[in-house]
Amino acid sequence: MYSNYLTPMAKVSINLATGSLQKEDLIVGIDLGTTNSLVAFINPDGKAQVINDTGKGELVPSVIHFAKDGSLVVGNQAKEFLTTDPQNTIFSVKRLLGRSYGDIAKHRDFFSYKVIDDNQESLVKIKVGDKFYTPIELSALILKELKERAEHALKTPVTRAVITVPAYFNDSQRQATRDAGKLAGLDVLRMVNEPTAASLAYGIGLNPNEEKTIAVYDLGGGTFDVSILQIQNGIFEVLATNGNTFLGGDDFDRAIVDYWIHENKLDLKSLSENQELAQGLRLKAEEAKKALGSQNLFNESLKGIPLAISKQKFEELIQPKLAETLACCQYALRDANLKPENIDEVIMVGGSTRTPAVKQAVAAFFGKPVHDELNPDEVVALGAAIQSDILAGNRSDILLLDVTPLSLGIETMGGLMDVIIARNAKIPTKAGRQYTTSVDGQVNLKISVYQGERDLVQENRKLAEFDLKGIPAMPAGLPKIDINFLLNADGILTVQATELRSGVKQEVEVKPTYGLSDEEVEQMLLDSIAHAKDDVAQRMLIEARTEAEQMAYTADRFLAKNAQFLQEFEILQSRQLLEQLRASLNSGDKDLMLKQVEALNEYTRPFAERVMDVAIATAMKGKQID
Ligand code: ADP
Ligand code: MG
Repeated sequence: MYSNYLTPMAKVSINLATGSLQKEDLIVGIDLGTTNSLVAFINPDGKAQVINDTGKGELVPSVIHFAKDGSLVVGNQAKEFLTTDPQNTIFSVKRLLGRSYGDIAKHRDFFSYKVIDDNQESLVKIKVGDKFYTPIELSALILKELKERAEHALKTPVTRAVITVPAYFNDSQRQATRDAGKLAGLDVLRMVNEPTAASLAYGIGLNPNEEKTIAVYDLGGGTFDVSILQIQNGIFEVLATNGNTFLGGDDFDRAIVDYWIHENKLDLKSLSENQELAQGLRLKAEEAKKALGSQNLFNESLKGIPLAISKQKFEELIQPKLAETLACCQYALRDANLKPENIDEVIMVGGSTRTPAVKQAVAAFFGKPVHDELNPDEVVALGAAIQSDILAGNRSDILLLDVTPLSLGIETMGGLMDVIIARNAKIPTKAGRQYTTSVDGQVNLKISVYQGERDLVQENRKLAEFDLKGIPAMPAGLPKIDINFLLNADGILTVQATELRSGVKQEVEVKPTYGLSDEEVEQMLLDSIAHAKDDVAQRMLIEARTEAEQMAYTADRFLAKNAQFLQEFEILQSRQLLEQLRASLNSGDKDLMLKQVEALNEYTRPFAERVMDVAIATAMKGKQID
């Protein structure tokens, strides 16, 4: 369960107000979507408004195309390459944000571009040409495009933003979104849940005295989610979420295409070979779907193929998908211990809720009219803009709660800061994360606690350091070390470290704000904005290096232990690749390091399988003798 508190950054906004550079800057609200993204702001009349960069439209398709010469385009222009150059056209990157390959493995066929599967547990990377990109970098490209459009349209620099995320996003996905913002040159003041933003856009939750339970039904291009929120004293709490990350308007388009193929007895095989026709059909289907919102018949043709469909037929085709979304609503209500009649307001979000049959089905399910007065594909961005207005202190009617002014975290490999409690979290709060060791037989673990916004701990403020001693000797990666941060109402931070397999435990207490003046907090924030881009680049380099070092360590150990299963030339070749990997460690070139990791991994993967097979065979033999 996630809570999203509708609270301004009390202390910080006052501090920042004295910084002249900050005050003039406007804060935008950004909906970073799977299919489409957009940016909104509060206009001089105090109203939320979507930003339309002349000639480019409002919605920016979340698609990036990389050309051979290294140049790239984002948005509508990139979308055209989806069929003509699929390997170099990235879509749906939001599905990969903060995920490991293990998380997405079963959907790998969905992606037409190359998702690297070297490591099941670390965050995924994408390969385009011979460059490696993280989903964070790719999302940053989309955010940068939005930032530039906003700057162009509003003729003012944009450096601060509120970005929305799905209510079901976990900590790692939220952190990845925040990093993407940073990389795009944006100071992300707050991450807001998409349903919370939609609610704000409708003005629900702005009055501190109102108490309401609402349902937000969000049907986008390829994803569906429903959230049940409770609003009390201007605080939004997510009671339940449900959904299907592979269900959306694209399914409606596919249903129409399938219908046309069936009606015209089109040959599937020749269709799969004719990408242009397949894409043409898809586009016509989307056109038909939109047209059938206001007319009863769509009747056109493509290359002599008649393409007709009635509204009634369309509604019949999408019935199973609609039923599926309603089942999700049912589950969400059950998890929240509520019945449809307990829901005070129902809000429609996502382009696909423009289809009248969708609205009707949802209204019938909840037994009340739904909110559809605003454009459903704009509400999230509009709400994010309203949240930014609250943060800017322009809405004095909103309750102020105490928040932590700087992020708190610990040092991880390579001297990186791993944030556990992000700045602006409402106090009291607690958060935790699990870690492991990187070296075999490690029995002590130094835990260093830091405060600040920079990616490298050396730039942040050290609060405490202690040793977790007496971890039983285990191979690297096996110990499970839980680190919990507890920040109480008085601002005292308790850090607890526990090795779960042995129960070894240690804790310290510190007061993070002790000896810290408002000016220092402000300076730390300003520094983090000034260095944001370099910081993220450095973090990525360190992460790649850490991964390369780990790979070298593991491969070395593997070759030493399993030499008897390998041919001499295999050992030789592996050793050579290992040396190349080691040589790349000091190159400062992250793509080179990752390329060497991939090469060594690809080459040695069959050996690992061979050793595994032998181990299994031996174990089986052991059984037979028993
Ligand atoms: P996401 O939140 O996934 O980024 P959106 O909310 O922008 O996506 O929704 C995109 C989907 O909305 C697409 O499948 C698109 O075809 C659909 N859509 C847009 N306009 C209409 C319309 N008028 N009628 C039906 N579906 C629509
Ligand atoms: Mg959306």
